[in-house]
Amino acid sequence: MTERIYEARNRAFSLLKEKGLDHGSVTVLLQHITGFSHVMLLANMQTELTETQQRRFWQKVDELLKGKPVQYVIGVESFYGRIFNVDEHVLIPRPETEELIFHMLERQKFLFQNKTLNVADIGTGSGAIAVTMKLEVPEWEVTATDISDDALEVAKVNAEKLGAEVHFRQGNLAAPLSNEKWDIILSNPPYIADYEAKEMAATVLDYEPHEALFAEENGLFCYRELAAQLPQMMNTPGLVGVEIGYAQGEVVANLFKEVFPNAVVDIVRDINGKDRMIFCEISLR
Ligand code: SAM
Ligand code: GLN
Repeated sequence: MTERIYEARNRAFSLLKEKGLDHGSVTVLLQHITGFSHVMLLANMQTELTETQQRRFWQKVDELLKGKPVQYVIGVESFYGRIFNVDEHVLIPRPETEELIFHMLERQKFLFQNKTLNVADIGTGSGAIAVTMKLEVPEWEVTATDISDDALEVAKVNAEKLGAEVHFRQGNLAAPLSNEKWDIILSNPPYIADYEAKEMAATVLDYEPHEALFAEENGLFCYRELAAQLPQMMNTPGLVGVEIGYAQGEVVANLFKEVFPNAVVDIVRDINGKDRMIFCEISLR
């Protein structure tokens, strides 16, 4: 029996609702299966799904019903206007991280005279930050690191697919970068404290890689390490930007103020008004 799009949608909606799961994912899934844009999907609610589309749709609804994030179910997420592959070895890139890139791009304009900068992304995951930087400013030399080989595989596929020439290095935090000097370093490291797990959504906890989310020392471990490693590695002028948890602004800013005594260190809020980024501008004074 063939189903019209709206029939499939409504049936999936109620199944997800019964389980208390977000049903917004059904529309995303239907777009993925039919190849329709959101508007086209709405205009085609009466259209019948083909048998293949219907089979694929219900297979994937089964995965949603287990609590799997829709991005892993369809294998992609959009970031900074581009489509990145994702699987369970990488964090699903978040809109907050788009803001980290946006603010960095604004700040760097006032800091550097040079066009060709040596730039790095620590803990690249899907490659979202590194690939975006390279595509936004093709003159930059961009290097991405991760401790996870599986994540680096995904990042390499994304760089290739999106046509970004990024260099990849495996290793612990800044270690793979320490034999060079850098103009800009960005990082979205794991920053969630173990005790915060009890407040997190099951879709995140059960499916996203824990080494991408959780950090020792109440979530501060990576910032402490980076604060110890980065000062010797930065050029002047230089720019460091890290994403942070909303309650970590003061403490991470202080960590960086201590190690970059001549830098301007700013706590920057995201569009929801939460402390979300720290920028350190190391300038000639
Ligand atoms: N940059 C991606 C993004 O913003 O979507 C992924 C960020 S995810 C929060 C953190 C990433 O850091 C994960 O890919 C994880 O494998 C990596 N990571 C965790 N600990 C690390 C370490 N000690 N050294 C290098 N990378 C690490
Ligand atoms: N923004 C992610 C979350 O809330 C955390 C990412 C991170 O630890 N860097 O799930």
